Amino acid sequence: MVPQKEKKAFKLIKGMKDIMPSDQKYWEYLRKILNRLSFDYNYDRIDTPMAEFTNLFKRSVGDHTDIVEKEMYSFEDKGGEKITLRPEMTAGTVRAYIEHGLVNKPQPVKLFYMGPCFRYDKPQAGRQRQFWQMGFEAIGDEAPIIDAQVINMGYKLLSKLHLPSVVQINSLGCNECRPNYHEVLLDFVKAKKKQLCEDCKRRVNKNPLRVLDCKEESCQEIIADAPQQVDYLCDDCRTHFVSVLEYLDELEIVYNLNSKIVRGLDYYTRTCFEYTLQDAGESRQGVLGGGGRYDGLVEELGGRPTPAVGVAMGAERIVKELKRLDIKVPELKQYDIFVAQLGKEARKKCISLYEELLADDLKVVENFSKDGIKGQLEQANKLGVVYALIIGQKEMVDNTVLIRDMENGIQETVDFAKVVSAVKKRLKAKEIETV
Ligand code: AMP
Repeated sequence: MVPQKEKKAFKLIKGMKDIMPSDQKYWEYLRKILNRLSFDYNYDRIDTPMAEFTNLFKRSVGDHTDIVEKEMYSFEDKGGEKITLRPEMTAGTVRAYIEHGLVNKPQPVKLFYMGPCFRYDKPQAGRQRQFWQMGFEAIGDEAPIIDAQVINMGYKLLSKLHLPSVVQINSLGCNECRPNYHEVLLDFVKAKKKQLCEDCKRRVNKNPLRVLDCKEESCQEIIADAPQQVDYLCDDCRTHFVSVLEYLDELEIVYNLNSKIVRGLDYYTRTCFEYTLQDAGESRQGVLGGGGRYDGLVEELGGRPTPAVGVAMGAERIVKELKRLDIKVPELKQYDIFVAQLGKEARKKCISLYEELLADDLKVVENFSKDGIKGQLEQANKLGVVYALIIGQKEMVDNTVLIRDMENGIQETVDFAKVVSAVKKRLKAKEIETV
């Protein structure tokens, strides 16, 4: 006989992660808070496809950004179309806004989402190749109060999770005033070009703004003295920015004016911001989220000129912080009753008793394939149930059930026919909701 070759077990694609059952409570909690915030601020859910035409991202995120230059998951489909797995969610949302004529609805149109994004980045702490973003977009209004409210929503999402943050905020100006600043900045970085890292040397001419958010320490030292965009804002942009800050003051949001916040995507104008932890401690996750205004994007993607502002948060980074800081989140499952059995006949009886309990909407759990009452009761204890219902040989003969109070170990025998009402009565006496 030819020996069978041992089959190699498959592994995850580098930079991608499974979200295992033990982590799901964090994700569920995030979804819950996201949903609640969307209700509180009247945002509607939108789900766009994970894949879009490559040009959508080239036009929105920008040709000379790291995302488009290095990080996109792009392929040609069988029809020869150039397709990209979305690296972020705003471009698809804006495409949908234009395509579905949402411009004809009362403005601003307020949308929220949560879904996976893909960036072929070097995997490292806090950086994955598939990661989830959740965010809010308000499309169709330029009022600074909307910027402040969107900033507040990301801020509240974190504070509700017991992750107090600081908003790092800047203004990138508009098409009128940005070029002036770019000129001054270009002069500055050109003069320092020799001292910059290789990436920045390339960036100098293509996109000098990106030099400002270079993570290399040597570059950071050089750019510490760079001219600041806020000193070059036109009157309209300055008034808009001051107004955003006044609203943030009104909301008592902790923020820090930070001229190095330029964001890695081309579509941003005016307000842009990121969230860092107030007490970052040992965190090496980087920013938890960010966003800004993108007043030119709708037009760039073929719609009418339409101002807009949005925020996106990174779910994995938030979950990692929750775990690092040991923040308690609600358990996903809480059972009240464990049905335990001993012997073949008892098992038969228990399988229908289980259905009866379920039919009464009781929160019930079992481990029918196991023998041995001790092990089953240990499991019941671990699951934190209030009562165990036990049917062993004696109960089979007497047609009864043992109700064991898991808190104090007290056991009572009741008729099988009355067990459902008996356990409901006891749960009610302990003020445990049974529906
Ligand atoms: P960005 O669109 O780059 O500003 O991303 C918004 C948020 O998504 C960031 O603040 C991160 O929390 C998260 N994020 C971005 N890229 C990644 C990544 N490669 N892996 C995990 N999270 C990411």
